Amino acid sequence: MAFNTLGLSEKVLAAVEAAGYKEPTAIQSGAIPQVLERRDILGIAQTGTGKTASFTLPMLTLLEKGRARARMPRTLILEPTRELAAQVEENFSRYGTNHKLNIALLIGGVSFSEQDKKLDRGTDVLIATPGRLLDHFERGKLLLQGVEILVIDEADRMLDMGFIPDIERICKLIPFTRQTLFFSATMPPEIQRLTETFLQNPARIEVAPTSSTAENVAQFLKATDSKDYEKRAALRDLLEGAEDLQNAIVFCNRKRDVTTVYRSLERHEYNVGALHGDMDQRTRMMMLDNFRKGTIKLLVASDVAARGLDIPEVSHVFNFDVPSNAEDYVHRIGRTGRAGRKGTAFTLVTGEDQKYLDAIQTLIKKDIDWLGDAIDFEAAAQERKARRKAGKPSRNARSSNDNEATDAKPSSRRRSQSKPREVVEEQVEELPEMLNPIPVSNLPQRQSGRRSRNEKLEPAFGAGVHIPAFLLREPRPKKAS
Ligand code: AMP
Repeated sequence: MAFNTLGLSEKVLAAVEAAGYKEPTAIQSGAIPQVLERRDILGIAQTGTGKTASFTLPMLTLLEKGRARARMPRTLILEPTRELAAQVEENFSRYGTNHKLNIALLIGGVSFSEQDKKLDRGTDVLIATPGRLLDHFERGKLLLQGVEILVIDEADRMLDMGFIPDIERICKLIPFTRQTLFFSATMPPEIQRLTETFLQNPARIEVAPTSSTAENVAQFLKATDSKDYEKRAALRDLLEGAEDLQNAIVFCNRKRDVTTVYRSLERHEYNVGALHGDMDQRTRMMMLDNFRKGTIKLLVASDVAARGLDIPEVSHVFNFDVPSNAEDYVHRIGRTGRAGRKGTAFTLVTGEDQKYLDAIQTLIKKDIDWLGDAIDFEAAAQERKARRKAGKPSRNARSSNDNEATDAKPSSRRRSQSKPREVVEEQVEELPEMLNPIPVSNLPQRQSGRRSRNEKLEPAFGAGVHIPAFLLREPRPKKAS
C-alpha cells in the first residue's frame, strides 16, 4: 500500500516523502483513513509501530481547514510524560513543515508564562501532560470548548501513573461532539471501561500485542553474582564483548542504581549519560538530545525512559536488573531493533531473579538463551536458605534507604504507600523543579583548587538545593588600608 492511497493532503504527503517513508506501517494504514472519515479510534499498538504518525498525519490534513482562536486550542494530545509530549511536538513540527500551524507544549518543569503567551496567540495543536493542562485550566488561561480532536496516547501508561481521574476530568471539559483517538499498548479492564465511556463506535485497530518481542532483537541472559560491584563488572564485560555496539541503553530498576552505574561507567571512561525521574527537565532533555546526536554513546536509565521514547538506531539494550514487571522487559528491549533494524538485548540475571525471569519468559512465550552457563536457581535457593538459617543476610540485602520509595521525595513517599514502584518514580517526575535535587552534572564546579573525581560528583548538602549566588563568587582580595 502507498501513502497516497490513504486520503492524506498534498502537503502531508510531501512531508512524508521528505521523511523518507516508503510505505505506511500497519497502524498507519489502519488508522489514517478512519481518522480522516472523522471516526473515533481505538488503537492498540505500542511505540515503535509508527503510532505517532498514525494520528499526526491525518490531524494535519484535517487542520488545514479552519483557524486557531486565542486560548481555544483546536486539537489536544495528552501524553503521560514530558519526554513523550516533547517527542510528539517534534513529530508535528517535522510532518507539519509545510503547514503554518501554532503548536503549544504544556508540560511541567517549564515556566507558565511562555506557555500562556502561546495559548494567547491561538493554538492549533496543544500537546500536554494531564497535570499541567489542568493547572492552566484552573488558572483560567485555557478554554477547552474548541477542541475538535482529542488524542489520548499511551493510556495504559497513564493508568500506571495514576492519571486516569485527570483524564476523565479533561474528557468532561471537552465537547461531546469531538473526535477521540485513543491509543494503548495493552487493554486492562480499567482502560476497557474508559474506552466504553469516552469513545463512540470506534474503529478498532490492533497491531502486535505487547507480549511479542521484536523478531529482530537477539536476546541473551548472563548469569552474575548478586553483589552490586560484581554486577557492574559483569556489565562492563558485556559492553566490551558486544559486537557492533553503536550505542546502548542500560536499564536499572532503581533510580539509585542509575546514578551508581552511571558514575561507575564514567569512572571507567565510558562515554555515558543518565536519565531518571529525579533529574530536572532541562538536564533530561539535554541528555536525550546528546544521546540522539551520538555525543553520548551509553545512556543509563530507569523505566521512565523505557516506554515511548523514540531514539532511533539503538544497537543494544542492557538490563542491569531483571525488571520486576514482565511488560517492562518487552518495552525495554523494544528500544532496539526498531524500524526493521537488528538489535541485541542482554539481561544480567542473579540467583534471586527466577520469579521475574519466569514471568518474562511466560509473557514472551519463549526461553531466552544464556550466554555462558545458566544459573542453577535450585542451588541458589538452597544457598539462600542455608544463609538465612545461619543468620546471615541475603547477599544483596539492601539497607532500608536503598529502595525506590525512600529514593522519592517525602511528599511522594507518603502518596506512594499503596502504589507500585513505577508510580512513585513517575510521581517524582511531576514534582515541581524546585523540589528535584540539582543533578550532579548541573552542580557548579569550583574554578580552582584540586578535588578528586569522586568529590566532583558529590551533590551539595546542607544548603539544600539552593546555593546562594554570593557563595559561588570568587572571594575579593582585601583592600590595602
Ligand atoms: P513511533 O511508533 O511513532 O514511535 O515511530 C517509531 C519510528 O518509526 C519513528 O522513528 C518514526 O520516524 C518511524 N516511522 C514512522 N512511520 C514510518 C514509516 N511509514 N516508515 C518508516 N519509518 C517510520
